[in-house]
Amino acid sequence: MSIPIKTPKQIDTMKAAGEVVYNVHQALKDLIVPGVTTYDLDQEARSLCVKYNAAPAFLNYPASDKNTKAFPAVICASPNEVIVHGIPNKTPLKNGDILSIDFGCCVSGYYGDSAWTYPVGEISEQAKKLLKVTENSLNAAIRACFPGNRIGGISQAVQDVVDAAGFGIVREFVGHGIGEKMHEPPAVPNYGVKTQGRVLKAGMVLAIEPMITLGSYKVKIMEDGWTASTLDDSLAAHFEHTVAVTNKGPVVLTNPNIS
Ligand code: MG
Ligand code: MG
Repeated sequence: MSIPIKTPKQIDTMKAAGEVVYNVHQALKDLIVPGVTTYDLDQEARSLCVKYNAAPAFLNYPASDKNTKAFPAVICASPNEVIVHGIPNKTPLKNGDILSIDFGCCVSGYYGDSAWTYPVGEISEQAKKLLKVTENSLNAAIRACFPGNRIGGISQAVQDVVDAAGFGIVREFVGHGIGEKMHEPPAVPNYGVKTQGRVLKAGMVLAIEPMITLGSYKVKIMEDGWTASTLDDSLAAHFEHTVAVTNKGPVVLTNPNIS
């Protein structure tokens, strides 16, 4: 499948969605303390979408499985052993939890998508290391986003960082192209070698999203049909940015303060 190429002007337009995604994350980050519920966080994200005139990307997203209802919330809220696609609920967060928030939206016809794992209060040293390694793996992947490199260069950059730490790399879920649609080609796996995959070109925009575990990389899907947890219930982290490949190098659309 051909990979959509955006013009510099389209990439500029995509910055609007990216900035809303960034602002929503910053607002939610400040609310993540022991006692708050992921339902509260979702309500806040809903109001912010109205404020910014942004269409939430995950609300009513259809499930691939016919027996599962469309996604019911604006954010994915995935605590502790949940890797991705957690549904917000009214269980209060506890000191020592970690919480992955994934949020995407559409502004001016283009999507932005970013995830981050936040500490709730004071977390364990192992949890801190998991968050740091996953963030580092995302940053290494972003630095691989130059025209002429391959998708495999992004994959290998993630894998090198995570393998060195001895953590697990989730394989069932991968990053993706993004633009006029939330999910576009190509798939962007978090494991692989730099000689493989399509060649990156200026104008490609990719959502890069390592999902990393303290234990097994294997996944189980819970009864709601959405929640994806680690098979062994070990902690999982998820960091994601929407990144444009340009002739000047990577441009992180979902954080206006970097590159
Ligand atoms: Mg996402
Ligand atoms: Mg994504």
